[in-house]
Amino acid sequence: MSSFSRKDFLKSSALASLGIGSSVLSGKSSSLLDRISQAKGEAKNIIFMVSDGMSSGTLTLGDLVKRRQYGEATNWLELYDSTERPYHRGLMDMASLDSPVTDSAAAASSWGAGQRINNGAINMSPDGRRHKPIAEIFRDAGKKTGLVTTTRLTHATPAGFAANVPDRGMEDTIAMQYLQREFDLLMGGGARHFAPADRDDGKDLFAGFRAKGYDVIREKANLPNASRQKLLGVFSDSHLPYTIDRQNNAALASTVPTLAEMTQTALKQFNGAQNGFLLQVEGGRVDHAAHGNDAAGLIYDQIEFDEAVGVALDFASGREDTLLIITTDHGNANPAVNGTGDRYTDSGSNLDNIQQFTHSNDWILSGLDANSSVEDIRDRVKTATNLGITRQQAIMLLKSLNGELTTVYEAKNSPKAVLGSILANYLSINWLGTVHTSDYVELAVLGPGIEQMDNFTRNTDLFEMMVALAGVEKYASN
Ligand SMILES: [Zn+2]
Repeated sequence: MSSFSRKDFLKSSALASLGIGSSVLSGKSSSLLDRISQAKGEAKNIIFMVSDGMSSGTLTLGDLVKRRQYGEATNWLELYDSTERPYHRGLMDMASLDSPVTDSAAAASSWGAGQRINNGAINMSPDGRRHKPIAEIFRDAGKKTGLVTTTRLTHATPAGFAANVPDRGMEDTIAMQYLQREFDLLMGGGARHFAPADRDDGKDLFAGFRAKGYDVIREKANLPNASRQKLLGVFSDSHLPYTIDRQNNAALASTVPTLAEMTQTALKQFNGAQNGFLLQVEGGRVDHAAHGNDAAGLIYDQIEFDEAVGVALDFASGREDTLLIITTDHGNANPAVNGTGDRYTDSGSNLDNIQQFTHSNDWILSGLDANSSVEDIRDRVKTATNLGITRQQAIMLLKSLNGELTTVYEAKNSPKAVLGSILANYLSINWLGTVHTSDYVELAVLGPGIEQMDNFTRNTDLFEMMVALAGVEKYASN
């Protein structure tokens, strides 16, 4: 790097950390907003899809397993492989105000209000300023607004489009804001923040939603009966189960809808809305599985997210009034298929071992503790994975369950990470760590304005784009 460009780079970095957009510094003749202004108001509908905590390796893993197990590519990669539909593909910088490694709260707020804020907050700056979230902006413009997720509805990513709290842990408050703000459709988990027995204030938010004319649905079987204009669907006390666990448990399979089914329901409710809509769809448990180094949890939830992508692509197909954004908020644990065996030729067959799994690692660990025997551990892993781990491997997991340190990288000193590493020997899927990473993330966009996008996007630009392309008025922060 020459001294000039290095200086320039340092200056850019310093300004970027102050929240000044890179487009100002990049020397482009006009900003993204100027360039997309010709498409202003053309996006009547916006669908924003987030696979939470999806490292590039996770996108690859979902696609590899879907091809090997089901004989077809993921919808996301099929989009990249096709010349039929114009799309934008690029990388996005998801940094928050206080770290290059964002959490989901700051990440969703960057899209939800166009502001970089500190990790842990939702649409609130450190000085207490409240930023009006995009779902309120769109609601006030007469558009339908909806949030669909596999996490608790009050979790950080949906909240980042719709709520304002200084701490993402204030989930009772977030649920109350949803009730007060009257968004049109909410579907996911998290009954414990709506039910009077579980809320700190003892209020019955389910009754509150019914009083405001919402259909309140608690089981998948009732989804087709949703008839009114507004819908609250809550299908679990906390997060929805992992796909791999739902698929192998008849009771869960009959009561909990898939992300694709919820997305389909939302688009059916919103289709034909006079002024259009804003719908956020989150595959939220991809992130949890990555934190847990849980390969089956991760891969089958990523594939389920991709099914929802297919539903959204079908909706957007042939229309010019719909902006479809498909992305993630940050990397997590950066899993990858590692080369195994002579000339790496064992990697594929090892990866195919995932097809024998019937439960998540979460399920395995929920039945084990420090008092488990080595044979208990081997049996439980066998039940969930059809793999016979060695006695020595089971002893290492037992040590970890007893709190003994087992690895030199401290972030991996947990039973979850040790189990993930043991199974890596059979799956060839290994993990960098157990937490979020700063990787620039994958961004795919279809619809109006995409020709003008840069190949490297700042997270806050997506908010400005959505507001401009929808032609709605944003409001000053207060
Ligand atoms: Zn996370």
